[in-house]
Amino acid sequence: MTPVAPVTEEAASLLTELGVPRDSFVGGALEVRSPINGEAIGRVWTTDAGGANAAIQSAHEAFLYWRKLPAPQRGELVRLLGEELRAGKTALGRLVTIEAGKILSEGLGEVQEMIDICTFAAGLSRQLCGLTIATERPMHRMMETWHPLGVTGIVSAFNFPVAVWSWNAALALICGNAVVWKPSEKTPLTALATQALFHRAAARFGGVPDGLSAVLIGGKETGEALVGHALVPLVSATGSTSMGRQVAPRLAARFARAILELGGNNAAIVCPSADLDLALRAIAFAAMGTAGQRCTSLRRLIVHEDVYHELVTGLKRVYASVNIGDPRDRATLVGPLIDGRAFTAMQQALSEAKAAGGLVTGGQRVHVNSHNEAFYVRPAIVEMPSQSDVVRRETFAPILYAMKYRDFEEAIRLHNDVPQGLASSIFTSDLREAESFLSTEGSDCGIANVNIGPSGAEIGGAFGGEKDTGGGRESGSDVWKSYMRRATNTINYGRDLPLAQGVRFDVE
Ligand code: NAD
Repeated sequence: MTPVAPVTEEAASLLTELGVPRDSFVGGALEVRSPINGEAIGRVWTTDAGGANAAIQSAHEAFLYWRKLPAPQRGELVRLLGEELRAGKTALGRLVTIEAGKILSEGLGEVQEMIDICTFAAGLSRQLCGLTIATERPMHRMMETWHPLGVTGIVSAFNFPVAVWSWNAALALICGNAVVWKPSEKTPLTALATQALFHRAAARFGGVPDGLSAVLIGGKETGEALVGHALVPLVSATGSTSMGRQVAPRLAARFARAILELGGNNAAIVCPSADLDLALRAIAFAAMGTAGQRCTSLRRLIVHEDVYHELVTGLKRVYASVNIGDPRDRATLVGPLIDGRAFTAMQQALSEAKAAGGLVTGGQRVHVNSHNEAFYVRPAIVEMPSQSDVVRRETFAPILYAMKYRDFEEAIRLHNDVPQGLASSIFTSDLREAESFLSTEGSDCGIANVNIGPSGAEIGGAFGGEKDTGGGRESGSDVWKSYMRRATNTINYGRDLPLAQGVRFDVE
């Protein structure tokens, strides 16, 4: 058993260090519990409908001012935010560990991701650019200009409690937008801490309008207030597919834009030529990291029958020996599930898998401390005879379903035969297999990797997935365009008025 330090005191001291006023996490209606031991670590104040409306109105006012600043100046605010995040990395990373339960190196990694996107966005603020396009008319010029869009609404999930905000906010802010954030009701403390760091950056920048970045605390209804507000032209929503199904039609009904980052059911194909030692290590991290609670967690393993036994035997050995415990302990690789509901959902999925002929190894509850309200589990490997319904569904817990394949086309078919389309990978040394997997006829996911697992993306690329994953993209590449509106401008610098397509309209 790992000794558990009092999380409540530690959370309070980290919040204070990060600049969160004590009265904002004491005495409120929403109780926050640490998955480490189930103890209450704060009581935050929820935002009612009037408060949400006021915050959005104020963000809109802030946007009207902010959009006029040159983009590189807006980038300076984001650069300063990156500096504050660097200074607060240890404290915020530890708070992520306490509130979301991910191991310390992942908590720190999450903050590093925030720093990285700030660096990226600050540079990008000098590169927002449109095309100049050849026109068919003499003495004309045609070009694209990109303009700020308005208030960007951000709804986020518990498992990346702060990084998701930064992916959206860093880009939205350099693009000239204001941001209003509805974090998960399970992780509001890290959101308050992030907002406090934003305020530090804003104070150093000087002249940042009030309301440029706001946080709304609450559950689904608070998210709905943001999604339904006419002054929010774009909502980036991260969470389950069922949440996306509720949010998408409401946004569509008012022609607002959506970036939807929803559930995944990510697979890896392991081919006969794969480096099995490398594959085993990559699979272990992708399937057990964050206790299987990443949207990109590896959930399905499709292994060639010739290497199946060796790989699955090796994985079972690693699964049996991996350290499960307090995520603050550096020896721990698997921390707790977020709560009892997650544990119940995992046990239900395992029973369903057994009923469908699955052979389950692991999956049992592990008592790492004396607290009944903490839910630690041994990650499970389930050898499945086929890709049955339970395998095709996302269960947000460390369950890895292993299946055999014989020919490559069958592996690709199995791979794509799920509703979700987020992340994927193949382990092979065969160029033809690798390239086929990446080709039009290969993986149908937004992320497709070779010889690395599906999780752990970098911020430089566009992040997101297809099908039930929602189709949105966040972070790097040209994703910034989602946060701006595009205008096409045609300029006539001649004395004639030639019309496009040779149309004639001569008036006297
Ligand atoms: P969840 O769907 O329960 O909640 C996510 C957020 O949506 C919360 O802030 C919640 O309050 C809000 N919400 C719920 N219903 C809403 C509604 N009708 N209108 C507005 N807001 C609403 O998800 P969770 O349990 O916090 O997170 C786990 C899920 O998130 C998994 O399915 C995981 O795959 C997914 N996820 C996806 C990505 C991605 O980038 N694709 C990243 C992280 C997590």
